Amino acid sequence: MKKTKVVVTGAYGRVGREVVRAVLNTDDLELAGAVDLRGQGLDVGLVAGLDLQGITITDDLEGILQTKHPEVLIDFTTAEAVLKNSVMAINYGVSPVIGTTGLTTDQLDELHILCEKKQIGAVIAPNFAIGAILMMRFAKEAAKYFPHVEIIELHHEQKLDAPSGTALGTAQAILEERGELKQGNPHELEKIVGARGAQVQGIHLHSVRLPGLVAHQEVLFGGLGQTLTIRHDSLSRESFIPGILLAVRKVRQLRQVIIGLDSLI
Ligand code: NAP
Repeated sequence: MKKTKVVVTGAYGRVGREVVRAVLNTDDLELAGAVDLRGQGLDVGLVAGLDLQGITITDDLEGILQTKHPEVLIDFTTAEAVLKNSVMAINYGVSPVIGTTGLTTDQLDELHILCEKKQIGAVIAPNFAIGAILMMRFAKEAAKYFPHVEIIELHHEQKLDAPSGTALGTAQAILEERGELKQGNPHELEKIVGARGAQVQGIHLHSVRLPGLVAHQEVLFGGLGQTLTIRHDSLSRESFIPGILLAVRKVRQLRQVIIGLDSLI
């Protein structure tokens, strides 16, 4: 079996370790290298909770691209690092699968243009949990019949941004179906500012931050005499792995940037 060679950037990070473990445990993938600013010199197998692999973490992505010839880069680093890593990879003919969030519109445009020019595929997904993608898809479907909707997203207390990208993506998908709508009582009075959450064109978004949570979301629809709740829970970072592996297996067939997993599942 021909194995796809993968380099992981952010290999010492919370998600990166899960990714490394998955790559090492997957028959059709081969770990070509592991890059991080932290944990340099450590064996990546041990960092990922497996046996010694003889592959040490390095900060030299270009060295790995030149000597190990990976086909796919999986990046779970930081908003500051992801563009440089991805541009370097594409210039070496390597297809990026990007989970790192925070790329700006200009940066996304840059990647679109470079991939088009080099005829290299890339997958950039703000949420690799397949259940979360299905939640958004089902929410869009439900909005045809239930235009009144509120979104509650719940995350661990270390999360920096609110609302989550997934909540915004869900609101966007619902808006494509039902458009803007003023919900609730037109004379509604917020006695404490923020009590009704944030709003995206009439859809109320509520963000909960608590220790013990990972990543969760409820989409609540209300109709005549009935409600419908669609809920997704990421219970651990393993939830991202099937989506990442799916993207790794498809990205080499692409010749452009795909945003989100929706078109791949
Ligand atoms: P994390 O634990 O902080 O890991 C990121 C790692 O990348 C850190 O070890 C960091 O080192 C390292 N790094 C920084 N710059 C680098 C560079 N130039 N080259 C190589 N490594 C570099 O973060 P995380 O929780 O794993 O999350 C990583 C990213 O994935 C975040 O953007 C997060 O929002 C995103 N995420 C996406 C999904 C999804 O489904 N798409 C799911 C979860 C998380 P330093 O600490 O020294 O900077």
